[in-house]
Amino acid sequence: MKTALTVAGSDPTGGAGLQADLKVFRAFGIHGLSVVSAVTAQNSEGVDAVLPVDRDFIERQLNILLSDIKPHAVKLGMLYKASTVEITAEVFRKYSPDNLVIDPVTVSSSGMSLAEKGTLDKMRDALFPLSKVITPNIHEASVLSGITIENENDMRDAVKKLRKMGPDAVVITGGHLDETATDLYYDGEMHVLEGSKIEGEYHGTGCVFSSVITALLALDYGPLEAATRAKEFVRNAMENACHPGKGMAFLHI
Ligand code: PLP
Repeated sequence: MKTALTVAGSDPTGGAGLQADLKVFRAFGIHGLSVVSAVTAQNSEGVDAVLPVDRDFIERQLNILLSDIKPHAVKLGMLYKASTVEITAEVFRKYSPDNLVIDPVTVSSSGMSLAEKGTLDKMRDALFPLSKVITPNIHEASVLSGITIENENDMRDAVKKLRKMGPDAVVITGGHLDETATDLYYDGEMHVLEGSKIEGEYHGTGCVFSSVITALLALDYGPLEAATRAKEFVRNAMENACHPGKGMAFLHI
């Protein structure tokens, strides 16, 4: 059986974070492994608080797991602290994980910061060079590239700039830009992944998108095929979303 690891924050709603990643892995018949980087208190209306796991214990979780099992793919979600990025990169340099996908999480839909100052810079310097695919949204791509993305041309400039930071491929998800929800995929060649906006507020779309890519890489799909299929998966999961709380809808995984 294939295995995939997520290093991510716990989301008690199950709509995003580590819990959503594990459900996605299961949906693709993959055994999910998980290392928790932070615990959150949240509901469908938003994130209330974040409690990071300390650096030494993240190191311990990663080392004991990776000394035993080599996952077929690895996803990094909300790491929250620069010190977590640092220790994750240190351990990964030792174990060289295959098929590393990075979702450079910065802020929740409800506006809560999900990355302390300095975390993204560290991620760019220490982890992007080890990665196969990174999946920033418009906001994350703007922060990382220093280009304020306001239209598709800005997105094209940003995606090229981000690829120079080390990943094999970059997908910028355009869901927060305009009505088209078009994603740009760049691996040296530009690919436009067409989409259209679905009305409503949804929790965990970015998490699910990147974990589907992770699952498909574990199953030996190429990164472009994985991103294209992940976009379809997310769209379908949004169309079948449920609404158990007072706030955002949860994707059907
Ligand atoms: N909580 C955790 C643990 C997450 O990883 C994320 C996103 O990556 C969120 C919350 C925020 O999700 P959203 O902005 O889709 O509500």
